[in-house]
Amino acid sequence: MSYETVIGLEVHVQLQTRSKMFCGCPADYQYAPPNSRVCPVCLGLPGSLPVINRKAVEYTIMTGLALGCRIPEYSKFDRKNYPYPDLMKGYQISQYDLPLAEDGLLEIEVDGESRSVGVMRVHLEEDAAKLMHFPGEPGGPYSLVDVNRAGSPLMEVVSAPDMRSPEEARAYLVTLHSIMQYLGVSAGNMQDGNFRCDANVSIRLEGSQEFGTRTEIKNMNSFRSVYLALNHEVDRQKRILEDGGRITQETRGWIEERGVTVSQRSKEHAHDYRYFPEPDLPPLRIEKDWVDEIRSSLPELAGQRRGRFVEQYGLPLYDADLLTGSRAVAEYFEDSVSLGRASCDDLAAYSKNISNWILGDLSRLMNLENLSIGEVKVRPAHLAELQSLIDSGTLSNTMAKTVLEEAFVSGEQPGKIVKDKGLSQINDSSIVDSAVTQALADNPKAVADFIGGKETAAKFLVGQVMKITRGQAKPDLVQELVQAALETERDG
Ligand code: ADP
Ligand code: MG
Ligand code: ZN
Repeated sequence: MSYETVIGLEVHVQLQTRSKMFCGCPADYQYAPPNSRVCPVCLGLPGSLPVINRKAVEYTIMTGLALGCRIPEYSKFDRKNYPYPDLMKGYQISQYDLPLAEDGLLEIEVDGESRSVGVMRVHLEEDAAKLMHFPGEPGGPYSLVDVNRAGSPLMEVVSAPDMRSPEEARAYLVTLHSIMQYLGVSAGNMQDGNFRCDANVSIRLEGSQEFGTRTEIKNMNSFRSVYLALNHEVDRQKRILEDGGRITQETRGWIEERGVTVSQRSKEHAHDYRYFPEPDLPPLRIEKDWVDEIRSSLPELAGQRRGRFVEQYGLPLYDADLLTGSRAVAEYFEDSVSLGRASCDDLAAYSKNISNWILGDLSRLMNLENLSIGEVKVRPAHLAELQSLIDSGTLSNTMAKTVLEEAFVSGEQPGKIVKDKGLSQINDSSIVDSAVTQALADNPKAVADFIGGKETAAKFLVGQVMKITRGQAKPDLVQELVQAALETERDG
C-alpha cells in the first residue's frame, strides 16, 4: 500500500534582544556564568511583576510580516501552567488564542519545484531555565539549575500540516532559518539551541482526505537530525500500520547516537495547561502605523536577493543561490564586487570571478578552519585587490591561490604579499627567453624528441620553464616562446 506523509513543524526561535522578555536582565545568558543573569522576576519570586519587552514584540511582528502573516490589532499573553523544575513560576507566559501574527506562507523549493507551506501562527513566549543532570556523580544523582535562560524571549513559528516529505521539512527549516538570519532577529544557531524544532508527523493512505494520528518528535539539534528523525519516524509508522497496528498519539524523543525515536509521553499523560489570560500584563493593541513602519523597514530576504544577483550581476542561478544562503556571505560578495567594479569593464565576468573565489578557495579554507565569513581575515577589500592583481596580469590564477592562502593566515594585503614574496608574474619576455634557453640546453633528449616529431615534448619543456621561473612566468608567454625556440632548432 502507498502512504502519504504529513508533517507540521513547530519552531522555537530565541530572539536576540538586549534584555529578557519580562525583566531587565541581560539576555546574553549563553556566555555568562551560571545564575548571574537573574532577578526577582525571572526567578519567579512572589510579588514581582513582568514588563513586556517592546523589541521582542517588534521582532515577532517583523517575522510575521516577512512570512506574509496578518498582524491582528489585538493580542495578549496567557499563562500556560505546568509544574517542572526548570519553570521558575510554575507557569510559562505564552500566547494562546491571540498570537501576534497569523495565517502566513513560507515558499520552499525542493528539486527545483516551489511550494507554499502555511504558517498558522507566530507567537511570543519566555524560555525556561536550564537543567543539568548528574546521574552518576559521587553524592548523586542530582541536578543543577541555571536560571540565566529563564525568561529569555522565545518566538514560536507554527506551520500548518502542509509538508509531504522529510525533504520538504528540511527545506522549510533551512528557508525559515535564512529568513531569521536576514531579519537579524536571532543568532539562529541550532547547536546552541537558538533555533529548535519539534516535528509533528503522521501518515495516511494515498488519496485519503483525513489526517492520520500524529506523533511529535523532540530533541533534534541540527537540520540533519530533523531529516533523519522524520525518515525514521515515517518508517516506524508504516511498519506499525502494515502489521495491522495503530499509531498512538505521543511525544517521542530522537536519540541521535542510535538513530531512533523513543516514546517520552503519551496523550493520556498530556498536560492540561489550564491556559488563562496573564493578569499581570495588559493586553496589547498593535497600532497599524507601527506595523506599517516595521513593514517598510523589512530588509531584502534571500529569495529576493537571489533574483537580484542574477539580474544585476549576471550570475548563474546556482552561484546566486549559494551566495545568498547566508546574509553575511551575500554581503561579503556585494562588498567585494562594489569595491572592485570601478576598475573592471565587464561586471558579469568580474562578479563571476569574485563568486568563484568565495564559493571555491575561500569556502574551502573556511571549512578547514571551521570559520564563518565574519571571522575570516581576508576582507572584501582584499579579495577585490587579489582579483585586480589577476586582471592586471601581475598574478596568474595559480599564484593568486597561494596569495589567498597567505592572506587567509596573516590577514595581510595581497599587494603586500606579492611584493614581500617577490611573487609577481614574469611578463618580461627577455627573462622568460633565458629560462627557455636554459630548459632546452638542460633537456637535449626532449628537444630531439620534438624534432623527431613528438609534439608533446614541448609540453614537458614548458613545465621545465615554469619550474625555472618558480611558476611566475606567464604561461601563454612561455608556451609561445618554447614553441618558437623548438621550431628554430628543428627548422634551422
Ligand atoms: P497542539 O495544539 O496539540 O499543539 P496544533 O494544532 O497547534 O496542535 O498543531 C501542532 C503542530 O502539529 C502544527 O505544526 C501542525 O501543523 C501539526 N499537525 C497537526 N496535525 C497533524 C497531523 N495529523 N500530522 C502531522 N502534523 C500535524
Ligand atoms: Mg503546539
Ligand atoms: Zn530577570
